[in-house]
Amino acid sequence: MDEIVSLCKRRGFIFQSSEIYGGLAGAWDYGPLGVEMKNNIKRAWWKTIVQERDDMVGMDAAILMHPQVWVASGHVATFADPMVDCRNCQARFRADEIEEGRCPTCGAVGQFTDARMFNLLFKTFAGPVEDEASVVYLRPETAQGMFVNFENVLTSTRKKLPFGMAQIGKSFRNEVNPRHFIFRTREFEQMEIEFFVRPEDAQKWHEYWMEERLRWYVDLGVRPEKLRLTAHPEADLAHYAAACSDVEYLFPMGWLELEGIANRRDFDLQQHSKESGTTLSYFDEEKGEHVVPFIIEPSAGVDRPLLAFIVDAYTQEEVRGEKRVLLKLDPRLAPVKAAVLPLSRNDKLVPTAREVWAMLRPHFMTAYDDAQSIGRRYRRQDEIGTPFCVTVDFESLEDEGVTIRERDSMEQVRVPITGLVEALKERLPRC
Ligand code: ATP
Repeated sequence: MDEIVSLCKRRGFIFQSSEIYGGLAGAWDYGPLGVEMKNNIKRAWWKTIVQERDDMVGMDAAILMHPQVWVASGHVATFADPMVDCRNCQARFRADEIEEGRCPTCGAVGQFTDARMFNLLFKTFAGPVEDEASVVYLRPETAQGMFVNFENVLTSTRKKLPFGMAQIGKSFRNEVNPRHFIFRTREFEQMEIEFFVRPEDAQKWHEYWMEERLRWYVDLGVRPEKLRLTAHPEADLAHYAAACSDVEYLFPMGWLELEGIANRRDFDLQQHSKESGTTLSYFDEEKGEHVVPFIIEPSAGVDRPLLAFIVDAYTQEEVRGEKRVLLKLDPRLAPVKAAVLPLSRNDKLVPTAREVWAMLRPHFMTAYDDAQSIGRRYRRQDEIGTPFCVTVDFESLEDEGVTIRERDSMEQVRVPITGLVEALKERLPRC
């Protein structure tokens, strides 16, 4: 992990938030490459989940919601983790992260206070008066924005059961102990699906979504042997869930959750109907009856999958006695699709190289690099996962051709500059 954290900082994927002030625990900033990769993950998810399906629609709800939403959802009363303090060093932990009573910070054994429940909701105030009546919460999940809009979406889209809503956005949890880089943070992004089904079909759809979501990670290049589904034991289920399985990835620190896939029953729609006075149900025209749908919820983060994609793609190999570090990212996820590299900063080469770069920019996210030796520049692109380098050399001035070099095989082919966009499009399908 240390190597990956260092690569992420050095190459502009991820920086510590407010670093010049000493940082803020549980918050991270995405740099020029990180934001590209994050957008690529969100785009790939949206394409699979919304664009390519006939039974899904998108949403983008506000982060701030009526405070009663979080009372109805159960978050105000029960969204809490058990917290303990080490009496020896005063460090604070989630009780379920402690092994054999040993403090992870100072090593003291049996020095913990009794566990106290700690609510993870971030509170703030809406408007100029800071009193109980103006309290609002930063949403801890995007899901509720979809539940409270159930009626609006149903009437505006005329969807029939089964159908789903999808949303991507920021969520906030005042985690007791943010850790493992971007794995557990206090501000993060989620990609959530709420899939509404007839109650008798819930089990079938739960199984369907577990398979479907595993497949998504594999399709984007994650090694299947590093992924698994783990069912939550009944005692550990959230208050709303009838069943839940996590998609887990084998990180250097162990198997950890990327995404939870829960059967939320009709809990949320029932609660909001009760608390708001607006009945949230579906009228089945064929059967002539009102149904309160069950909800299957595949709830993924963006940050945890991003970390898993990087960890999985991180490769070290030896090439002619030298170490080569590369990210074997699926081209759809790679921040930069092609880098234009003039063989040198020679005055004759640079104008052609810049023309080639300008030609590619409307089509792909690109980079241009003319500093240091060509070998070093290939390595720099390998390290950030750029699938193709385009080299402009002295021959280019004669034959109006360039060399395309592929990241993983390092194979090179010569193509005419006029056919370069097409040649890259062919090699970058679905990008
Ligand atoms: P954990 O048990 O690790 O706290 P959770 O089961 O509470 O996670 P969910 O409520 O199922 O998480 O949230 C769905 C997804 O949102 C998670 O699988 C994860 O990818 C992401 N997520 C949740 N909490 C965090 C966090 N603090 N930092 C980063 N991502 C998070």
